[in-house]
Amino acid sequence: MNEHLDRCDLCGGELGPGTTTLEIWRGEDLIIIRDVPADVCEQCGEAYISANISEKLDQFLSEYHRHRPERYLAVPQYSAVQAIGG
Ligand SMILES: [Zn+2]
Repeated sequence: MNEHLDRCDLCGGELGPGTTTLEIWRGEDLIIIRDVPADVCEQCGEAYISANISEKLDQFLSEYHRHRPERYLAVPQYSAVQAIGG
């Protein structure tokens, strides 16, 4: 997720400019950041974020609670028992 790559680490596909949506847990909070610029694998869709942007995201995540979210999502949660039986 840090150093610049020309090819996908996972499948060897070509990377092109694109964006990705990040889902990040901070304690009990799930934070979503949309449209983050990234190099995206044209084959499998894996996204690679530059060190520069990664640094800015870390900065934001250290103080995200000071920012008003653009919106809140309701997210369904299930237990493993519901999903795969107990
Ligand atoms: Zn790939």
